Parts: sequence; structure tokens; C-alpha cells
Amino acid sequence: MKFAIIGAGWAGLAAAQALKNAGFTPTVFEAAPLPGGRARRVDDTTMGAIDNGQHLLIGAYTETLKLIHSLQPDRDALGLFLRMPLRLESANGAFCMHAPRLPAPLHTLYALLSATGLTLSQRWRALQMIASCKLKQWRSTELQTVEQLLDFYQQSPVLRQYLWHPLCLATLNTPPREACAQLFLNVLRDSLDAPGSHSDLIVPRVDLTALWPEIAAQGMDMRYRHIVREVSVASDHVSVDAEKFDACIIAVPPYAVSRILHHSTHPEQLHKLQSQLQAFTYRPIATLTLQLEHDWRLPRPVMMLDEHIARGHYGQWVFERGENDQLTVVISDAEDFLKHERSSFVSNIAEQIREQVGQHARARILMPAVTSHRLIVEKRATFNAIPGLARPANKTVWSRLALAGDWTDTGYPAVLEGAVRSGQSAAAELLDQLLTAKQMTCHQAKHR
Ligand SMILES: Cc1cc2nc3c(=O)[nH]c(=O)nc-3n(C[C@H](O)[C@H](O)[C@H](O)COP(=O)(O)OP(=O)(O)OC[C@H]3O[C@@H](n4cnc5c(N)ncnc54)[C@H](O)[C@@H]3O)c2cc1C
Repeated sequence: MKFAIIGAGWAGLAAAQALKNAGFTPTVFEAAPLPGGRARRVDDTTMGAIDNGQHLLIGAYTETLKLIHSLQPDRDALGLFLRMPLRLESANGAFCMHAPRLPAPLHTLYALLSATGLTLSQRWRALQMIASCKLKQWRSTELQTVEQLLDFYQQSPVLRQYLWHPLCLATLNTPPREACAQLFLNVLRDSLDAPGSHSDLIVPRVDLTALWPEIAAQGMDMRYRHIVREVSVASDHVSVDAEKFDACIIAVPPYAVSRILHHSTHPEQLHKLQSQLQAFTYRPIATLTLQLEHDWRLPRPVMMLDEHIARGHYGQWVFERGENDQLTVVISDAEDFLKHERSSFVSNIAEQIREQVGQHARARILMPAVTSHRLIVEKRATFNAIPGLARPANKTVWSRLALAGDWTDTGYPAVLEGAVRSGQSAAAELLDQLLTAKQMTCHQAKHR
């Protein structure tokens, strides 16, 4: 059977790998010259291999981690990732919450009750909210936003500033006043109401394309620099730019699906899908990679920054990178950042890190000079995770066509684990449909 996959992001490649494991060699069409999609390597002339965006994984990304390890069974996990128990800590030391290696829910209990920078009653309120959400099986009320959820549980401004708002932005890339409470609760459920290791923070030590997309791609028929213009579905085949396949998985973002899928055997269903795709809106993320004059360590490898927009202090998170001579600064929901004057943004953000880290009890030497930098703004980094968004399933009405991508109905916001799971589920759906159809044909032939 001939399978086509459109898009070599994490969803498309996870689908390709699942088909490969079932004994097929899919053809993967990718517009870019390398695999990885929105989580990929960028070759910078002075800094070498950097990423288009700093990515943070968590222990709950079980399918992603399994897939990465299955492709490199001999590679020590330490070479691929820095993995540490949950720790949310401000660069200036004003707030710190960390979970010890204890079984759930003790690790969450300890983390909240021992958090510094919060009063006892604030810690208690946060704990009450978690306990009550768990009792309600992590279900929010319909169309509730994260801000409404926090209002309902009377979370104080300080709790919002240090804990809930940064978590909401980091996971949903959507401001709390607009973000979908249910998706936020799903993230809390899977990281806090799960085995203790699921809340671990995991930072890749190698570039995102080298982490696994490049290795997976080696076993596929890859067609790089091929922008697919048209996919049409017939009853006995699918055409991808006029080339015939038995089945196809479209693993590109919603706006791109809309452009390439025009013709089908069910025009009404296609119309319905097109309206769902058009309802998606997107939010940017900016990532600034800084090359330092010499090695330097942050007090912790991942730290939260306090934002002061008026001073150009836009950074929200700072990460150590590479051989300890690089830093990455993340600005989620970067709409505001894009509107402002950006001529002195590097010196402002360097000042922000220097100033805030300088106040931390573990700060030793001053941050070295920045010798080079690269700012990458992904304008459509993630879909806008708003309540009530209808996300299509991986299975479609066309038995030869499946959809994959972080935007499909995964139960997750736009994250790597959602992308990987969607790809695997799309591949399983297609195999199931096609093998059932084949068995039926054999059965009918036997009884004729
Ligand atoms: C800056 C940034 C930071 C992020 N941080 C995190 C994080 O910390 N943790 C986390 O879990 N997630 C994070 N994400 C989200 C994560 O990167 C995405 O959820 C994931 O990469 C989506 O994968 P995908 O395969 O669904 O889509 P994509 O990666 O968008 O893959 C689609 C692929 O299809 C290709 N394509 C599009 N149109 C065509 C066409 N017509 N023909 C051929 N090819 C086509 C594209 O080039 C692309 O390679 C971040 C995203 C960004 C941008």
C-alpha cells in the first residue's frame, strides 16, 4: 500500500514512523528543506545550530519520550535531555516552588505548601483549588476561561502573577482572560494528578531536529522543498499533486489544510471541515538566543523572569543552552512585543536578566557581555486556545484520508505531545480502515 504524508513536523513524522513500524514506507512531502516543522533546528552563521524556538517538555509527554528513545535505544537519555523535578523559580528569587521526588499527590502537596514568596493563606488557596478541581475530575464549566476559573477559586493577584499566569502562557500561549479553562485543567491533571515523574521538566540538550525528526526521516521516502498544492480524495485513491496514493495523512496547520484540500467525494462534509479550519486563529512566540562572551550559569537551568514592558523587559523565561555560553529568552503571546519599538530589545533584555539574576541568592558573577544574538518570531506559533473551539478528529469521513497536527482534537493545547499522539492516532485510523476494507473485499470474493 502506498501512503502519502503531507508535512514533516512532529505529527507527520510520528504518523510516518507508526506506518513504518507496521511495515510500510510512506512518502513524506515537506515544504522546508529539513524536518521538524515548528520544532526545528535553525543554522545560525555565528552561533551554529540553534532552534526556531526554545521548547520545554514535561514528564507527561510519554508518547513523545517513548518515540525518541525507541529511535535511539543506545543513546543515554542524559545526552539528549536535561531532566529535573518540577521547579518554578523566579530569576530574582522572589518566588520558588519545587516538587521533591515523592509519589503523587505528595509531591504537589509539598511543592505548594513549601512555596516561597507566597503567604500561608495564598498557598492554602492554591491547594484548595487543585483539590477541588481533582474532586470535580478536572472538568471546568462550559466555555469558562482560565481567568474565570481563577476568579471562582479566589486566587490572589500574587498567586496569579507567580504561578497561574506564567503556567497558562507557557502551556496554552494564550492570555488567561481568553484561554480555555478545560485545556488548562487537562494540563494540570496530566502533570500533577499523575505519577510524580510526569511533572518533571525536560529540556533538550541537542537541537530539535537532531532530537529525533532527522533520524525518523532517514527511513522514509522524503520529498523536501515540495509545497503540496492539491490533495483530492476519490473513492479508490487519493491524489497528491496528481500522484496517486492508496491513502494520505495531512499533517499541516489548519490554514494550510484549507488551501490544499478542495475536492472530495463528500462536498458537504468538506464544507463543514473548511468552516472548522477557518475558525482557528493563531498567536506568536518570540525566542531570543543570546551568545555570551564566555561560559556563565544561571542559578537554575530554567527560570522565570518578571516582565516590565515600559523598560523593554519582555522576557518571561530564560534557559541555559549549549555549552553554557548561550541563553534563550522566551516571550509567549508576543503580540505586544511585536507592536513595540525593538531597536534596543537585546540590551533591554540583557539588562533584565542581569538585574533579576543579580538579586538571586545563588548569583555569583555578573552575566558576561552578549556577543551575538538571533531573534526568531514564529507568528503562528500555536493556535489560540480559546473555549468552544471545535477541533476536528484525526478520522475523517473519507476512509483514505486522516488529519494530524497539534490542532486536531487531542485534548491538549498546541504542544509536542499532542502533535505526536495525533500522528500516531491518524496512522492507526488509516490502517484500521484500510485493513478492514481489504478483509471485507477478500470475504466477499470468497463467497461469490
Ligand atoms: C516558538 C515555539 C515554541 C514552542 N514551545 C513549545 C514548548 O515549549 N513545548 C511544547 O510542547 N510545544 C511547544 N511549541 C509547540 C510545538 O512546536 C508544536 O505543537 C508542534 O511542533 C506542532 O507540530 P505539528 O507537526 O502539528 O505541526 P508543524 O510543526 O507546523 O508541521 C507542519 C509541517 O508541514 C509543512 N507544510 C505546511 N504546508 C505544507 C505544504 N503545503 N506542503 C508540504 N509541507 C507543508 C510545514 O513546513 C511543517 O514542517 C512551540 C512552538 C513554537 C513555534
